[in-house]
Amino acid sequence: MNAPHHGGCHCGRIVFEMTLSGPASAFAPRACDCSFCRKHGAAWLSDADGALRVRQRGEALVYRQGSAQADFIACPHCAVLLLAMFEREGSVRVAVNVRALDDATEFAAEQPASPQRLAPNEKRERWTQLWFSDVRVTMADD
Ligand SMILES: [Zn+2]
Repeated sequence: MNAPHHGGCHCGRIVFEMTLSGPASAFAPRACDCSFCRKHGAAWLSDADGALRVRQRGEALVYRQGSAQADFIACPHCAVLLLAMFEREGSVRVAVNVRALDDATEFAAEQPASPQRLAPNEKRERWTQLWFSDVRVTMADD
């Protein structure tokens, strides 16, 4: 098993542990060109064969933009953008914003991505194939 990558928001209310199925250098973050992701400078990483554990204190800030069917998850206190998430048939799929990782990590070169050019059903198919499905969110005590 690969060592997990740790990340989280700036104030520590929301932290996560991302375990990839291969070396980080085999994964290319995707820099989404939608106006929301551009304004955050977000780049997304996911691994359908990996695992993601999220631990949060209190509610997250959830933002759904435009026609997108995904929710963006940010910290309501320190405003760091952490995750993109969507639900399908009762299960959740998540992508991680690599800017929220604690340590600089040697991923493959970033790739541009333009999901806004995809039809809604194409987006959902793509995210279902690519995003983390082994996701567990734990609420921490205050
Ligand atoms: Zn925070």
